[in-house]
Amino acid sequence: MKIQNYINGKFSLPIANGWIDNYNPSNGEVYGQIPNSSKEDVENAYIAAKSAFPSWSQTTLEERSRILIKISELLEANLDRFAEAESKDNGKPVSLAKMVDIPRAASNFRFFGNAITQFASESHESVGQNAVNYTLRQPIGVVGCISPWNLPLYLFTWKIAPAIAAGNCVVAKPSEVTPMTAYLLGEICNEAGLPKGVLNIVHGLGTTTGQAIVEHPNIKAISFTGGTATGAHIAKVAAPLFKKLSLELGGKNPNIIFDDCDYDDMLNTTVRSSFANQGQICLCGSRIFVEETIYERFKTDFVEKVKGLKVGHPSERDTNIGALVSKPHLQKVKSYIEIAKEEGATILCGGKAVTVEGYENGYYLQPTVIEVKTDDCRVNQEEIFGPVVTIMPFNTEDEVLQMANKVKYGLSATLWTNNLKRTMRMSSQIQAGIVWVNTWMLRDLRTPFGGVKHSGVGREGGFEALRFFTEAKNVCIKY
Ligand code: NAD
Repeated sequence: MKIQNYINGKFSLPIANGWIDNYNPSNGEVYGQIPNSSKEDVENAYIAAKSAFPSWSQTTLEERSRILIKISELLEANLDRFAEAESKDNGKPVSLAKMVDIPRAASNFRFFGNAITQFASESHESVGQNAVNYTLRQPIGVVGCISPWNLPLYLFTWKIAPAIAAGNCVVAKPSEVTPMTAYLLGEICNEAGLPKGVLNIVHGLGTTTGQAIVEHPNIKAISFTGGTATGAHIAKVAAPLFKKLSLELGGKNPNIIFDDCDYDDMLNTTVRSSFANQGQICLCGSRIFVEETIYERFKTDFVEKVKGLKVGHPSERDTNIGALVSKPHLQKVKSYIEIAKEEGATILCGGKAVTVEGYENGYYLQPTVIEVKTDDCRVNQEEIFGPVVTIMPFNTEDEVLQMANKVKYGLSATLWTNNLKRTMRMSSQIQAGIVWVNTWMLRDLRTPFGGVKHSGVGREGGFEALRFFTEAKNVCIKY
């Protein structure tokens, strides 16, 4: 099938630049094509968004909220269709897309549909000066949203929902590797009554379509999620144009396990935080540090559990690990297993590609646990973004804190301990935007989300997202 752009409420063919093949990772076959949209396509999307802005930015909050909640309901009503499309594009188990990705995408619209009606601005009485100040939170205008392939619809809507809730009009680009659910979203938006031009979706490569959005002089803000190198490039392009930027980038998150934790809960959650979505979640705990006193026990139990995970076709019910997203990505992840061996690390389990019967050309890899000798080896420092984790022991809190912070990234961290004082000390000193204690990936959409260091700039989530997608203007009235 040929996917089309969604511009001004209509599906349209690209003007030039041709098509890109879209692969199904579960069998390695091409099953569709997407436009490699050009500058002209982006310009058309921009014109549609610009025309829609005066009316949409003046639409009452109740009406915007009603439409967003309707989109959410329609996503829920189409759960199976969206989950199957997401799985076919990305390789993730259908069960995961049904349980997590699509419901969370629906929640994004419902949450921001409600949040916008609660988004208050401040006022300050300038006592003794007969003046009052109030803040207007005004939509920016036309904004750009660019998202990655790992949680395709979930992350795409995480940007779009607050952007349109706040009264902006959007030019959005999903990853060229996973365009399908973004394409389907256009239909849902029309059905929900979203006015034409409020959301425009252009498909294509980052270097053509994405670059055209970032370079566009009148797209005033860019909300980007993706790799750190791409984020750095976008920051350079956007700087001379003085664009507002939100960058959610890579991670290499520590999972720190103390011997006083609730062991079984920790063990089960650590399997999930290591390998959910084939380890392709920016929040996965890819560096596991275990207190020496329980290291051997953990190593044995963890490896046994990991060996029990089933690698299989994404549509099979008992599949735990589906296919990796693409052939180049599979090759990249495999290359890190070779690097680990060269660095003298021990592969405790996994490490090999898997052939799934009937789907021999799919991109499958065993979940892999690497025991590293030192925390500064490459597999412990660089983002692998696949079903690969490292483990190593530690002795003291200071030692593990130092190792946890000794990477360029700072997205999230997980701590397993029942010691309250240690929890307080460590969670304040860990360099990360999110710290989970005795849990992982428990999300409350009101909380700020984002990273420090090379993991990003700015915060999404709750009112932080609505603040990003609005400009604050102070009005001072003397009376
Ligand atoms: P990527 O940087 O290759 O691509 C992300 C998006 O940017 C895609 O839509 C791509 O087409 C586009 N893009 C690429 N070059 C561009 C350019 N020059 N101008 C504009 N757009 C461009 O990332 P990816 O491989 O799709 O995703 C994996 C990365 O995303 C990992 O590093 C992961 O950690 C990160 N990620 C971060 C978060 C977070 O919240 N911090 C969440 C998910 C994924």
